[in-house]
Amino acid sequence: MEEKLNILYKECVEELKNIGIDVLNKEIVGNIEIHLSKRNNKRYGCCKQEEPDQKSKYIEKNGRRKILRYAKFNKHVIEISPWVMELEDEIIKNTIVHEIIHCMPFCNNHGELFKKYAQYINTKLGYNISRVGNKAEDYKRSNKTYEEDKNYKYKIKCQNCGQEIYRKRFNKKLLYKYRCGKCNGRLKLEEVY
Ligand SMILES: [Zn+2]
Ligand SMILES: [Zn+2]
Repeated sequence: MEEKLNILYKECVEELKNIGIDVLNKEIVGNIEIHLSKRNNKRYGCCKQEEPDQKSKYIEKNGRRKILRYAKFNKHVIEISPWVMELEDEIIKNTIVHEIIHCMPFCNNHGELFKKYAQYINTKLGYNISRVGNKAEDYKRSNKTYEEDKNYKYKIKCQNCGQEIYRKRFNKKLLYKYRCGKCNGRLKLEEVY
């Protein structure tokens, strides 16, 4: 699987180069490593940023809080979840390119520049990069059955329309604070697994 990942990664790098995005330019992008993640995460992939470029330091204001951020990193470790590798190549490559964009300066989020890259790549190369993937759709496109995440522990049921909600965590307050999203009915804890 790791070998397939490397082959597809190289294809992505090549395609991006053809439209003027040089992923291998260490001056701008830094070093990228790509691996399969060891655990089967829910998410498609992630990009861990390491070795922040001291010159790219900036302060982000979040209300009264000030957060120190870096716009640029010299090392990026991309991890792709193993379940993604069972899907169609185009979906795997979508995931890879999504994470590659996070390696670009000022792209360690899903902000303006991230969106610009995504849009440009989608238009030029026919990718379908978005902020978040759609698992059900991607499984369907790969002709695979999609199993909902069975990792939940609590079943909550709407007392009015019967809609069932599954949760990993549970807090009693939830029952008072929230109502059914469909009919606004009262919720009740049905089962703990
Ligand atoms: Zn992302
Ligand atoms: Zn309801």
